[in-house]
Amino acid sequence: MATARPRPPVALSVPTGAESGLELQAVISQLEKAGRAGDRELIESVYEFSADKHSDQRRRSGEPYLTHPLYVAWTLAAWGFDQTCVLVGLLHDVLEDTLTTREVLEKEFGRELASLVDGVTKIGQHAYVRRDEAQAETFRKLILASVRDVRVILVKLADRLHNMMTLEHMRPEAQRRIARETLEIYAPIAHRLGMAQVQADLEDLSFYYLRPGPYAELHAKVQEKLKGAKSGIQKVRERLKVELAENGLEAAISFRVKRLYSIYQKLRRQGVDVAQLYDYLAFRVVTKDLRDCYAVLGVIHQAWQPVPGRFKDYIAMPKGNLYQSLHTTLLAPGGQPFEVQIRTHEMDSIAERGIAAHWRYKEGDQDQAEESGKIAWLRQVLDWQKEVDDPRTFLTALKLDLYPDEVYTLTPKGDVLAFPRGAMPLDFAYRIHTELGHHCSGARVNGKLVPLRTEIQTGDRIEIMTNPNRYPSGDWLGLVKTSRAKSKIRHWLNTEQKKRAGEIGRRLLERAVRKHKVSPKKAFEGERMATYLEKEGIANLEDLFSRVGFGRVSPTQVVPRLLSGEELSTTEEKPSRLMTAVSKMLPFGSASIAVRGDGDMLAYLAKCCKPLPGEEIIGYITRGKGVSVHSAECPNVRNLMYDPGREIEVSWARTGDEVYSIQLEIETEDEPGMLARLTETMTKLGSNIKQINASTLQPGRGLIDVVVEVRNRKHFERLSLAIQDLPGVFEVSRRMGS
Ligand code: MN
Repeated sequence: MATARPRPPVALSVPTGAESGLELQAVISQLEKAGRAGDRELIESVYEFSADKHSDQRRRSGEPYLTHPLYVAWTLAAWGFDQTCVLVGLLHDVLEDTLTTREVLEKEFGRELASLVDGVTKIGQHAYVRRDEAQAETFRKLILASVRDVRVILVKLADRLHNMMTLEHMRPEAQRRIARETLEIYAPIAHRLGMAQVQADLEDLSFYYLRPGPYAELHAKVQEKLKGAKSGIQKVRERLKVELAENGLEAAISFRVKRLYSIYQKLRRQGVDVAQLYDYLAFRVVTKDLRDCYAVLGVIHQAWQPVPGRFKDYIAMPKGNLYQSLHTTLLAPGGQPFEVQIRTHEMDSIAERGIAAHWRYKEGDQDQAEESGKIAWLRQVLDWQKEVDDPRTFLTALKLDLYPDEVYTLTPKGDVLAFPRGAMPLDFAYRIHTELGHHCSGARVNGKLVPLRTEIQTGDRIEIMTNPNRYPSGDWLGLVKTSRAKSKIRHWLNTEQKKRAGEIGRRLLERAVRKHKVSPKKAFEGERMATYLEKEGIANLEDLFSRVGFGRVSPTQVVPRLLSGEELSTTEEKPSRLMTAVSKMLPFGSASIAVRGDGDMLAYLAKCCKPLPGEEIIGYITRGKGVSVHSAECPNVRNLMYDPGREIEVSWARTGDEVYSIQLEIETEDEPGMLARLTETMTKLGSNIKQINASTLQPGRGLIDVVVEVRNRKHFERLSLAIQDLPGVFEVSRRMGS
């Protein structure tokens, strides 16, 4: 059944009668009505400023643009907010939509106003990309965490409400996009601030544009149902009045129909139809004090039969946003259920207007005890940062810091991710993908390259750069903040270490069996190995290798149990060959250290003593890292050699007067004489230049490529320092490989 489309819903949180032709005087009257005289001159000058900036703009409806900020200001005044809020309402679009800068605003109207307007503008710049419910929640937090003053949000809500009220002038895709953002982001924020009416207005308007069919259908059904219930409602109302009067209870009785979106959700949640809905209409009894609430409840339960299980005491147990009320459902004589809500004036005001109601109370003269109860409510929403003596400045001093422990960042695609405060780009990388983390080489934050040690901030848009040759290092553990990143890095390091330990263990065992003239193949692959492993409770050969590599088992323990007595008594006599060690870590390429043994082992010069070519050296098989090469003089060596089985013979592959060729890249200022200065320095330090090439990188910058001979590491270091010190040299680097 197709239902004719109704008119868009009317926003109940805004007084009617000013939809068109609103003038500044109406805003001032609204402020006065709320008991805020205001500084008329200031309001007028702000208005003129805004009028001037927006003078050549029109809204899509064809109206002058100024009608929009004027309406927003008027709404804020009608909600009972202070003059500053209203002024921000008047100015809220000048930074976004005109050429005005924050500096100009600050000069004209001061820092506070400028920063509030700037805050409203910034919220608008976060583009909401819909993913799922969790994403919407995180995005709401992003919005709330980016503002430091609650008034920024209030202005944004008034702005959004007016935009929703005039949405019919937009194109259909824009209508859907804005309505979805309103429903998923701004309505829940209004809810959080306890502004139930604003929330319902935003929801109903969004519902109207997002689901026109269901909206029209539900609208018609509810109208129909109300028509049928009219006389019944009247009867209940009359009787309520009489019962209360007879019991001497003074109370205002009103009647409300549940808002459409709220009904829609309830029907969907419970899978029922409008006909089965209990509480689509409710009577509201507003009493003068708390005691009367319970008295009214008693009277009502006497007069009608209560529906069991439908009584809720939100006075004793307020909701999270401090909503307080008694709810009960009763049966009318015809069997039709109806709901009654009972509350005091103040509870009623807070229930409908939330923070706006508190705003009012803050300004009046309230006694301290009552005050502290209300502050408790605000504390849940807002962080109370400093003591304020004057209650008038109470809200001005309130700063928003709803999520002090978290930051909210954006991916390049616009997804919002939450992190603990202090998190780094690496945390971000690991959150997106493990591989992205493992190969992370850098990050761009808001388009700018940053070091990996940079704390990410709320609102940052982060892009991770990778390099396939980059891998995690132990330092990363100290850098990251999230446990996910930590465990991924740890896992990688462990796996890598185990792999290396396995390789080393295998070499050590191979060496040990060869000593007895047994081939490793024969020793490791036969029946005897299987027996040995089983006896020792070791899962497999790989496991044995890594145990040996980590030093948990030594080859001298394994070999006697593995080989036969005959084999054990045979030992190798001929001297072993010196084999080439392979290492990327060696300063002069791969051929400078020879490790005694078989096959290639990873060798590196120990950091503690950095032995120089020619010096006497000792090798030590480390746990999982290869062979560390120390100077024979190194004091650490003696301490390390508690396990003689791990000592391994090493020697310099070439000794004496060997020289090594290295290739240097030198970035310089591109100026005459540069090359001459360089060659002079190299020659002075005793280096032969084998090849030299100069080119221009970009205007003013040159690149000099040179191959020189050095004797050893020290020599190389002296040379590169001397070059670095030359005037006009920016950077010296050594080209590895090739
Ligand atoms: Mn606006």
